[in-house]
Amino acid sequence: MKYISEYRDPGLAERLLARIRERSTRPLRLMEFCGGHTVSIARYGIRQLLPSRLEMLSGPGCPVCVTANKDLDKAIALARIPGMIVTTFGDMMKVPASHSSLQQVKAEGGDVRIVYSTQDALEIARGNPNRPVVFIGIGFETTAPTVAASVLQARREGIGNYYVLSQHKLCPPVIKALLDSGEVKLDGLICPGHVSAIIGSRPYEFVPRDYGIGCVVSGFEPLDILLCVDMLVAQMETSQPRVEIAYKRGVKPEGNQVAIRLMDSVFEVTDGHWRGIGTVPGSGLKLRSEYSMHDAEEVFAISPGEPVEPRGCVCGEILRGVKTPRDCPLFRRECSPENPVGPCMVSSEGSCAAAYMYGEHDGG
Ligand code: SF4
Repeated sequence: MKYISEYRDPGLAERLLARIRERSTRPLRLMEFCGGHTVSIARYGIRQLLPSRLEMLSGPGCPVCVTANKDLDKAIALARIPGMIVTTFGDMMKVPASHSSLQQVKAEGGDVRIVYSTQDALEIARGNPNRPVVFIGIGFETTAPTVAASVLQARREGIGNYYVLSQHKLCPPVIKALLDSGEVKLDGLICPGHVSAIIGSRPYEFVPRDYGIGCVVSGFEPLDILLCVDMLVAQMETSQPRVEIAYKRGVKPEGNQVAIRLMDSVFEVTDGHWRGIGTVPGSGLKLRSEYSMHDAEEVFAISPGEPVEPRGCVCGEILRGVKTPRDCPLFRRECSPENPVGPCMVSSEGSCAAAYMYGEHDGG
């Protein structure tokens, strides 16, 4: 398949692996930020193919996984309001919040609907003009522009019963928070591909400058990731950390200015609440005051109470790169995709789901 098969070519993969083995002389610890990368690394057995001195850690790049219970509980409280229609992407349905899940609320009679885009949510709002319709806005800079566009469209068309619960998060501030914590010593970052298609590669320039570690934006095919690892190894072996792009077919240094302007016109930066990391200043997005009539948190009085974390689940540590799914005593025992205890097992981009699906627990 054009644009796919050439990025999965086994011969090229072997050549890249040989170059990495040749270049790599010392232990390096690399973190892939993005959940899409986590899945590809597990799916193609990249961790097992690389020299053992290259340690690959997963970071907080799965948007479902990093949504804190504090925020999930708000979605559930909204779904329990009589007459309310809550719309969400499918991954969110099964995520266990403090005391329930959206799926459970639906089973109890709540009107929770899976949508595939904000256009679906707008259509539901058009078709139900006398009922409030909330779209649960999760995701990073990748999804925020489309949610912003939906708010503008609702304003334009006078769809007054369409609301957004914004739980969007921004990547560079949480990267900074992780590096500042010093909890995990990293040598290189595999920067997110889709997020960088929007924001570009320039927002990562503080990483090599202030922390002395490499930074390469990667695509999602196995050759993309191997090329990215090769570039990071080359940077660190020559002590020249910098920002580079290994995904030039998708990412420009300046990003997508149209999408950035769209996002900025509807959202403003606020603090973000991250599972396992806590509140990170300037890492969230909320609707600007001129769009408050579409802001679910402004319009509906919800007070879900104190959040409770799932007992025994170490998703928080996994998202910080401190632990792996294999370190969780519940992995493949009490916790499985059929019966998930934490979000990292629910989301298709979660580390635990990827490790379960592709057998990383037994060597890949
Ligand atoms: S295996 Fe399940 S309980 Fe353990 S960290 Fe992953 S999601 Fe949480």
